[in-house]
Amino acid sequence: MTQHSELSTQKPIPYGRQHITEEDIAAVVETLQSDFLTQGPKVAEFEQAFAHYVGAKYAVAVANGTAALHLCAMALGVNEESRVITTPITFVASANCVRYCGGTVEFADIDPATALIDIEKVRQLLESKPKGYFTGIIPVDFAGNPVNLEELRKLADEHGLWIIEDACHAPGGYFIDSQGEKQLCGNGKYADLAIFSFHPVKHIATGEGGMVTTNDEELYKKLLLYRTHGITRDPELLEENHGGWYMEMQELGYNYRIPDMLCALGLSQLQRADAGLTRRREIAQVYDTAFAGFEGVETLRTSAEALAEQGHTGHAYHLYVIRVEDRKGLYDYLRQHNIFAQVHYIPAHTMPYYRSLGFKKGDYPEAEHYYSQCMSLPMYPTLTEEEQQFVIVKIKEFVRK
Ligand SMILES: *Cc1c(COP(=O)(O)O)cnc(C)c1O
Repeated sequence: MTQHSELSTQKPIPYGRQHITEEDIAAVVETLQSDFLTQGPKVAEFEQAFAHYVGAKYAVAVANGTAALHLCAMALGVNEESRVITTPITFVASANCVRYCGGTVEFADIDPATALIDIEKVRQLLESKPKGYFTGIIPVDFAGNPVNLEELRKLADEHGLWIIEDACHAPGGYFIDSQGEKQLCGNGKYADLAIFSFHPVKHIATGEGGMVTTNDEELYKKLLLYRTHGITRDPELLEENHGGWYMEMQELGYNYRIPDMLCALGLSQLQRADAGLTRRREIAQVYDTAFAGFEGVETLRTSAEALAEQGHTGHAYHLYVIRVEDRKGLYDYLRQHNIFAQVHYIPAHTMPYYRSLGFKKGDYPEAEHYYSQCMSLPMYPTLTEEEQQFVIVKIKEFVRK
């Protein structure tokens, strides 16, 4: 025990953090010394490398994940008439992007075994209204556990819905479809658009940053236009042409660009993405083993279990979530020992803003029950074995009491 209490006086253990190497720093410095700080060559380089990584045709790099969601909602034409379904267990931006465009948000409750949106509940919600009532759905690969988009696509097609996959937690994650094919998160096979974030706690960190991926050329062009004020210089799109300086603002867009320094950092990070993913899966396995059969700590059903018959795991482990009865007690106890666990998420519909739109506590009981017990444990590639063991010991110590 002494060895562990020694650790507690050392540096804090967060639930997630970035990993910046000398190569990353050199890549940023090189760009700082180049001709372009923004709108330079690193943007397209990062986009192409990222599209390749997730297996999509097109990628558009943007200022952050929330901007990516907003651009997607705009490109799909979300407006005051739109009604869009998402999960209450997500970061609020997944829902907010619909509101930015004036649309209405609806939630479908989660499957308590995975904390992913419950596709049966989505079906019930869709069937409770006439066709055409809903316009789209925004599933989230929560914690890095890929949503079964094949199943969701079938449902979406029956009801004429588009899909934006919020894959912020799942770069490198995948599921195996009914043809036995590996479908990487964000590859655009089943979703119209997918989005990623490069916030420091995410797999690839650029500080702020985001990406949209798609296989749809038309949507891709709209994203490019809306990313830069709705302005184009493309001679094929111009209505007039007055000379070399000429450009046209054809739509109301935004400045959602990401600087070249950050794309250089993203490119450098992307080279280590697979190594990071492998390390995350190792960490998950250690937690799995530690808590298997341990009374008082439940883990989420992983895609490893869900896909056991194929012998594959596609989980990207952005988060490792446990469920405990006395969550606040455990949270406070870990903090006393310099372990900064987190809670993902406070159900979106219980936020004062969404309550002001008419949602109330009790609307999505599975999400609310999940929230009362969930806790995300430290999960990031540079977490040491010693630190992880310390976390496990402290959790068991508290739960046994
Ligand atoms: C991080 C995150 C976002 C938003 O990304 P930002 O880059 O912080 O704007 C959206 N959805 C989910 C699920 C996220 O985890």
